[in-house]
Amino acid sequence: VYTPHIAKEDLWRISGHLQNYADLMFPAMEVEHATYRLKPMNCPFHILAFQSRTRSYRELPLRISELGTVYRFERSGVVNGLLRARGFTQDDSHIFCTPDQVVDEVMGCITFARDLYRAFGLGDPSRVAVSTRPDDSLGTDEQWELAERALMEAATRSGFDVEVDEGEGAFYGPKIDIHARDAIGREWQLTTIQVDFNLPERFDVAYVGEDGARHRPFMVHRALFGSIERFFAVLLESSNGAFPLWLAPEQVRVVPVAGDFVAYSDEVAAVCRAAGLRADVDAGDDTLGARIRRAQTEKVPVTLVVGGDEAAARTVAVRPYRGDQRRGVALDALVAELVAESAAGRRGEAPAAGAA
Ligand code: ZN
Repeated sequence: VYTPHIAKEDLWRISGHLQNYADLMFPAMEVEHATYRLKPMNCPFHILAFQSRTRSYRELPLRISELGTVYRFERSGVVNGLLRARGFTQDDSHIFCTPDQVVDEVMGCITFARDLYRAFGLGDPSRVAVSTRPDDSLGTDEQWELAERALMEAATRSGFDVEVDEGEGAFYGPKIDIHARDAIGREWQLTTIQVDFNLPERFDVAYVGEDGARHRPFMVHRALFGSIERFFAVLLESSNGAFPLWLAPEQVRVVPVAGDFVAYSDEVAAVCRAAGLRADVDAGDDTLGARIRRAQTEKVPVTLVVGGDEAAARTVAVRPYRGDQRRGVALDALVAELVAESAAGRRGEAPAAGAA
């Protein structure tokens, strides 16, 4: 789904954000005699989407997902580049399910997070922690106990050593935080999965059960990347900008040794692009050495140097950002190799750093 960026204050009063989260919300704005706020979270909108018609137990689990941009009034002293911004985009999803389904749904989120980390070369989660009820919280003892137990069971059954962060839960429910370790050993908290009884109560969310009666669903909030901006910052820090082949914005740079070979360079780039690779040609006026250095400085995974020998034999000289140089490589064979490596990387089957 795609939901609005502002909503009337009434919505944030029903959700409890105005009472519990106002410090992190931007000030109100008056629009046509109504008071609006920028959204600090996407959850209330997803609830409204769930409530757009009567829901049956047959529709559960029902998963609503959005790349949702949210706005939080971080004080100027704490904003920190991409790591902590005042507007950022969450890969946000809300799962409405029965109590019986919640453990499987949370396990599904944990597996999904692990697969994502692998695809981005971050390895398996380094820490899985369940955060329990904080001092300031909404909801009853029974609700908190049930939710905390479900998260513990899901995390444990997913095969991870689970730690407990006492009192570190959100005001509306307990959560699982998943951390990843980057290439130089630093640990980052990325994924958050929360069970929430509170918002379904506040919005009177219900589904029609097998018995024909109204029932309150469980609601699971989950963001796997956390925020796209923050995840990107972690990826940049971790890779030092040298992205794996599948992720690099420019995968292949073709460098002709002289102006006579621009036509063959264009042909090489066209063959790469036809195979789905992102390729460009640097036929600038700089010296050959300067153009090769530029490709290296810009951390393009694969630089292909071509001259007369290559044009005649339909080959390329390969200079990967990391790894050994090779001369006289057949163009078609190289393209097939890069396509395979890129696809494997996207599936999380290749190491992050290093290409070709
Ligand atoms: Zn949420």
